Amino acid sequence: MLAAVLAVPSLTLGRGAVAPPRSVAPRAAQGTMVAAQGTDERLRFLSEASACEVKDSYGTPAYVYSEAALKSQAETALAFPSAYGLTVRFAMKACPNAAVLQTFDRLGLHVDASSGYEVRRAVAAGVAPSRISLSSQETPADLAELLDLGIKFNACSLRQLAEYGRLRRGDRSTQLGVRFNPGLGSGGTGKTNVGGPSSSFGIWHELLPDVQALVEEHDLAPARVHTHIGSGSDPAVWQRVSGLSLDLCEKIPTVASLNLGGGYKVGRMAHEASTDLAVVGEPVKGAFEEFAARTGRQLDLEIEPGTFLVANSGCLVSTVQDIATTGADGHTFFKLDSGMTELLRPSLRAAPGRARHAAGGEYVIVGHCCESGDLVTPAPDEPETLSRRHLGGDASIGDLVVVEGGSPSRRSGQTRCHSCRPPPRGGVEGPIAVAPVQGRELGVDRWR
Ligand SMILES: *Cc1c(COP(=O)(O)O)cnc(C)c1O
Repeated sequence: MLAAVLAVPSLTLGRGAVAPPRSVAPRAAQGTMVAAQGTDERLRFLSEASACEVKDSYGTPAYVYSEAALKSQAETALAFPSAYGLTVRFAMKACPNAAVLQTFDRLGLHVDASSGYEVRRAVAAGVAPSRISLSSQETPADLAELLDLGIKFNACSLRQLAEYGRLRRGDRSTQLGVRFNPGLGSGGTGKTNVGGPSSSFGIWHELLPDVQALVEEHDLAPARVHTHIGSGSDPAVWQRVSGLSLDLCEKIPTVASLNLGGGYKVGRMAHEASTDLAVVGEPVKGAFEEFAARTGRQLDLEIEPGTFLVANSGCLVSTVQDIATTGADGHTFFKLDSGMTELLRPSLRAAPGRARHAAGGEYVIVGHCCESGDLVTPAPDEPETLSRRHLGGDASIGDLVVVEGGSPSRRSGQTRCHSCRPPPRGGVEGPIAVAPVQGRELGVDRWR
């Protein structure tokens, strides 16, 4: 019954808003589960039986998380080398599910929110405002109220800095940080590079005098410098940026902490490498020590991984609800009961998927939206090119497809991506957070 296994380095975690197609009865287990022989790709934590249990209990599409995987990634991040103290923030746009936020909160992680609504969502999940830092492209209309909650605020533009100054003239707390564009960026693709002259994120580093003028005008004392240069970034570029960021800290004497963002690469396929945090962090630790020796200032380090913490910690279970063929020179398509509504990244970023090389047919997997772009299996970096997957066994309507390798940004649907819109009233998302390893639910998320 479990027809296909593939990983698409993308995805979103949390139960989809789409009602399960009740009219399509799942076939009785007819043994189309593919054997894992002959392939180096395996499901990370679901088995055929547990995937079927998920479908029976929750319907599909359903997002499933492994609590054990979430914990182990969090522990790795908390072991990041640091000279004078470390704060790890979960960049929650990677997965804003309440149960996941609560799991990380219990483990001691703080939160990076990318919109005012994400702040509200984290607070609703029980995260203390003092542990939430806001770095947003759009200035929230309720910024004054959010600041009153006691969140940390990174001014990501001159306008935001001026706005903070207007609201908090003479502030000497540690609430304020300034996000810079350090002049260099790096991302897994052009669409995930958020540093350098082609990026609108943060205050361009050459505008430091403007920052200093606003700080003086409003009598402020920024406590943090913040840089985040992209997702899936090249570790060498990230390390260089840490040096540029320390230069900025040197020029703002009130700064006591440097936030170097996230973006650590995560391998989804067996052949892909992940960034080793212990290795990339070591030279940065050395740079902090040199900085302290030169300036007498021992800076705290903050890092902000999102993808790293969740990409391989969840999956999306969907049902094949129809099959189409297009002749001898064409393809066989699986149509899922999910798609860009739950799984934005394949169509947005043409992130490469992975196939299972077992005997069986070759299929193109598509979502349920009336858009040819709703493609779960694009060719790597070519969003318009179909790529076929070898999938074990012959699949039929009602079989399950499990997509792994989830993550960034990454819930689609208008209300979900970065929580840029408020949630609909009474929207219930879940129950979705299942930890099949422990066999218990993590919780129910009431936000869409
Ligand atoms: C997205 C984002 C991150 C995390 O990026 P990942 O690639 O998910 O690790 C960290 N900081 C900020 C400001 C972000 O916008």
